[in-house]
Formats: sequence, C-alpha cells, structure tokens
Amino acid sequence: MADRTRIVLKSGKDQSLRRFHPWIFSGAIKKIYGPAREGEVVDLYDNKDEWLAFGHYQDGSIAVRVLSFDQGEVDAQFWEGKISNAWRLREKLGLVSSPDTNVFRWINAEGDGLPGLIVDYYAGTVVIQMHSIGMYRNLETIKESLMSTAGAKVHTIYHKSESTLPEKPGITERSGFLLGDQDRGEVLEHGYRFNVNWKEGQKTGFFIDQRDHRKLVEQWSDGRRVLNMFGYTGGFSVYALGGNASLVHTVDSSGKAIDLTREHMELNFPGDPRHEAFARDAFGFMKEIKDKYDLIILDPPAFAKHQNVLNNALQGYKRLNQVALEQIAPGGILFTFSCSQAVSRENFRKSVFAAAANARRRVRILHQLSQPPDHPVSIFHLEGEYLKGLVLEVE
Ligand code: SAH
Repeated sequence: MADRTRIVLKSGKDQSLRRFHPWIFSGAIKKIYGPAREGEVVDLYDNKDEWLAFGHYQDGSIAVRVLSFDQGEVDAQFWEGKISNAWRLREKLGLVSSPDTNVFRWINAEGDGLPGLIVDYYAGTVVIQMHSIGMYRNLETIKESLMSTAGAKVHTIYHKSESTLPEKPGITERSGFLLGDQDRGEVLEHGYRFNVNWKEGQKTGFFIDQRDHRKLVEQWSDGRRVLNMFGYTGGFSVYALGGNASLVHTVDSSGKAIDLTREHMELNFPGDPRHEAFARDAFGFMKEIKDKYDLIILDPPAFAKHQNVLNNALQGYKRLNQVALEQIAPGGILFTFSCSQAVSRENFRKSVFAAAANARRRVRILHQLSQPPDHPVSIFHLEGEYLKGLVLEVE
C-alpha cells in the first residue's frame, strides 16, 4: 500500500466521497503524488491529508472509480470477496437455482461495489463487459474469481469490451473467449426459450433488465391486440402471446432484430398465426395505426447517452409517446420506457405528461417501473438508476 500513488483532493471536493459516492472527477484533484498510471490503484486524501478511499485511476473525466472506503489491498481475496458477495445476492433472489429462469445479471458495476464491471450470466455462459482500464488490468484475476465462485455452474466465459473500453494504448484484447468457445446458446426466462448470441448481439446479448416487465406484459395481454415497438429479440412479444393476446405485432428498424424475433416465436409458439413482425421505422409505422392496438410497448434505445443532449432526448420521448397515446384504442394500456441514464425519473414522467396533454387523452398511471433487483443501485450513486417505465391506462 505504501507505494500507491496518492491523490489529494481540492478543499470541499471530499464531500461526495464522504457520502460514499464512488466517482472522483478530474476537476476535483488538487495534486497527484507519484506516477499517474492508467488503471492502477490510487489512494485518495482530503486536503488535510486524511485518507478517504482507494480506487482505479484513469485519465479522463472520471479520474478515479472507488473500489473501497475501507483500507486494504487489491489482491485475489479482494476480488473473490466482492464477486462472491454479488453471487450470494443472486442466490437470495432465487435466480441461481430457479427452475424456469437461468439468465441474470451477476455484477452490476457500482451497484455491486465494482465500478466499471458488468457480468451477465446466460445458462452457464458468463459474459464480462468492462468500462474501465482498472478492470481490464484485472481481467485474469476476475475470471479466476468468477470460476471459483460459480464452480460447475460456469462452462464458458466470453469477454466483450470492444465497444465499452476507452481507446487507450496497451489495450490489446478487447474481446474473446477466456473459457470454452460456445458463441450462442439457449436460455430460459420465466419458462420461455430464447437463443442468445453474446458475440453478435447488442450489449451482452439480451436485455435482461426487462425480465419482470415482460412478465407484467404477459399479465396484461389477455384478449388484447399488442404492438411491441423497438422489439429487438421479441422478448415482450413472446410473453404477450403467452399471455393470450389476440394478435401481436413486433416492429424494429433492424432486419436482424426481426429475424431474431421470428426465431423466438418459432421456438416458443411454432406456427402461431397471431404474430407478425415488421422491419420498419417506429415513427413511420405508428402513423397508420389509429385504434388498431389495445396494448402498446415502447422500449426505445437510449435517446440521451450524455447530459448535453438531454433536451433533445426529452423532446424525443414526448413525440414518441404522444403518437402512441393518440393512436392507441380507447381503454388501451401503454407500457413506456426510458433506459437513458441522463434522463431522470421525474423528467421522463414530465415528458410523458406533456405527451398526454398534447394528445388530449385521459391517462392514469397504473405501475411505475424500475430496474430489477439483479441490477441493484447503490443508494449513494443514483446515476446507476437508468431504467424507468410507466404503465398507463388511456381512457
Ligand atoms: N425491447 C427490447 C430492447 C430494445 S433495444 C427488449 O426487450 O429486448 C432498441 C431497439 O430499437 C433495437 O433493436 C433497435 O434496432 C431498434 N430501433 C432503433 N431505432 C429505431 C427506429 N427508429 N424504429 C424502430 N426501431 C428502432
């Protein structure tokens, strides 16, 4: 520990750390004592030299990602402790031993005390996604801890960080198999079957965070005509059919997504004529659907990845929701989501409120949705709460 680089913060810039917020921005740093090497562990001090925390250093807007507010070493035991803690939470949630669900998030970055690290579990395959150099430097140790924690429950490990790690010298292997070489596999979610391709798919292969909301769609689908907009793998559509929808239409602008949807329909409901999929743009499609659907799901990609495009994103949510609210049949149910981290729950609600006012429909909120417990949020780091949803009844 003695040879760690010391970072002293400017006066007052220690406040957020004292409230356990896990990021230090570069502007908060007063002085760095020692070499500032990317991805190395540094100690953080206030400007009166009181030790506060240690974390991974990186040249960038977020300069330090805190690993611990208690003194200690970052050795094999450290990783083992954090990783097995995260596993135990998923055991408590019933996900590890569930007979009908074998896909879940094992490590959710700050929410599991490991900023920069995402690990998803797909029926024995573990997909690691890294967002920081510090995590990348520890890839081998992390892999060992994942294996020793899950034992026989892991047979394949795929590292997939080509789109998430920053461009830095010395990062050579951004993606690849660390164990086994299976690039796709079938998973079960609430008893439904999905073919997940972790190598080619978006994110780590599947939108695990919508699991409970898909179940809710199943419960609301009986006898309804359902439109699943931005369908991707068709997850919501499968559940809607399972919940006895009278018809289900999936729309996505990507032809590949539509192929995936069709594949999943065949896997779960072979030959079922109630489903159709369309490779179309959302706005174009929704122009011609007046009163055609009783349940609409809007799960668009993140409109705002950064704070500076927030206003455009809010306008985007308003426009999208307004069209859906204008077109949905009387008595319809709208499931509407935002996965933009930069959009707060309050701002999202206001956009949908403005959309309802413009559409001149009476709207009530039935459910307020968030991310599931295998995507935990540190109470000190609300930026980790990215998924927001509303279920609305439209008179
Ligand atoms: N609901 C999905 C996840 C949606 S991801 C699930 O539960 O798995 C967002 C999807 O929106 C992507 O598949 C992307 O291809 C699609 N998309 C992006 N822009 C679009 C547009 N303008 N019209 C239709 N689909 C779009």
